[in-house]
Amino acid sequence: MSVIRPYQFYDKTIIEEKANQLLIQAKNEGYPLDWGEGIAHRIVDLLELRMLWKIIPNDDQGEIVAKIEPLERRITLNEDIDKLKNDQGFQQSTIAHEIGHWILHINQDEADGLMEQLSLPLPLNTLTEEQVFLCRVTGQENLKKIKLEKQNYNREWQAQYFAGCLLMPEYKLLECKRGRDLTNWKHLYPIADELCVTISNLVYRLQQLGWIYIQKGSKKIYQGRHLKSKLDF
Ligand SMILES: [Zn+2]
Repeated sequence: MSVIRPYQFYDKTIIEEKANQLLIQAKNEGYPLDWGEGIAHRIVDLLELRMLWKIIPNDDQGEIVAKIEPLERRITLNEDIDKLKNDQGFQQSTIAHEIGHWILHINQDEADGLMEQLSLPLPLNTLTEEQVFLCRVTGQENLKKIKLEKQNYNREWQAQYFAGCLLMPEYKLLECKRGRDLTNWKHLYPIADELCVTISNLVYRLQQLGWIYIQKGSKKIYQGRHLKSKLDF
């Protein structure tokens, strides 16, 4: 069996559930989740993954933002990308995206088992590229800008959807929403700060939940069809 799972379709509710399970596990195991500081690093700790900042050179397809190497249980962020260092929200989103690959696409038992074998005589550079996820973009809105084969595109989409669910679970959004008008940009920016996410991640997530709606090419925000039922929460 390969370290990377064969492609599979995940329903959005399943992805959301997997993200929520991690948050519950973090709470149960006493990992402090400080939303204003960003929670992605805590989840990395919870999963016993490692983080590394390193220059990742471009390959023939262009820039690589981050990667995850399952056998090393390691997420690498490209230190050449200033936005990753300077924009906390973008950094959170990128880390959470890599966690998404770990949860959804990596055969974790197989990765650990192979690692044990590899700690014997086989050098790690025998790994094929297929056993590493190279991520070129980590925002849903940018995904369409790069050319990806269908299943790879879907995997990237799933990892990014997972990131949105992890960093902006519905119960936190409901908390942040109290006393605020989601159709007002001035109310959205403080929510993005409170959750340490980018405004585009927040807007995408709220639209996915059906709480707001923005017409393409417009900045005007409308209340989405699913928000009304949440108002009594
Ligand atoms: Zn990715």
